[in-house]
Amino acid sequence: MRIGHGYDVHPLVAGRDLVLGGVKIPHSKGLQGHSDADVLIHAICDACLGAAGLGDIGRHFPDTDPQYKNIDSRKLLRKVKEAIAGRGLKVGNIDSTLVAQAPRLTPHLSQMIQNIAADLGITPESVNIKATSTEKLGFAGREEGIGAHAVVLLMTK
Ligand SMILES: [Zn+2]
Repeated sequence: MRIGHGYDVHPLVAGRDLVLGGVKIPHSKGLQGHSDADVLIHAICDACLGAAGLGDIGRHFPDTDPQYKNIDSRKLLRKVKEAIAGRGLKVGNIDSTLVAQAPRLTPHLSQMIQNIAADLGITPESVNIKATSTEKLGFAGREEGIGAHAVVLLMTK
C-alpha cells in the first residue's frame, strides 16, 4: 500500500463556470485556471500521483500546454489512473475535503462521488468527499477562492 496527499486552491472569479468533482454547480462565480479549474479533481490527481511517486499534476499536464486549456479535469483524472496503473497500482480509497464558504455543496456530493468513482474504476463506497466552510475566515471564508484536500491510498493491482 502507498499513501498520497494532495492540496489545491483556485481563485473564484466572475464569468467562469463552477465545476467541482465534474459537476457544474450554479453559482455567481466560478474557478479560474488553465483547465476547468476543478480543484477537487486536481487535489485527488495530486494525491494519486504523490502516492505513486510520480510527482505532481503540473509536471504531467503543464499549464503552458495549449492542449490542456479549459480541459475537463475528469480527462486528467482518467490519465492519472492510467499513469498509476503503469506502476502496477490502483486506488484503494479516497478521502477528501472541499473548503468553500459558498455555494452549499452538500446536494452535489453524491454526483461528484459517482463521477470520480467512474473515472477511477472503483466503487462509490471507496470515494469520500466532505465539504466545510471556514466560518468566514481566510480566503475561502471571504469567497476569494475554493480549496480542496485529498488523501489517497493506492494498492498493488
Ligand atoms: Zn488546480
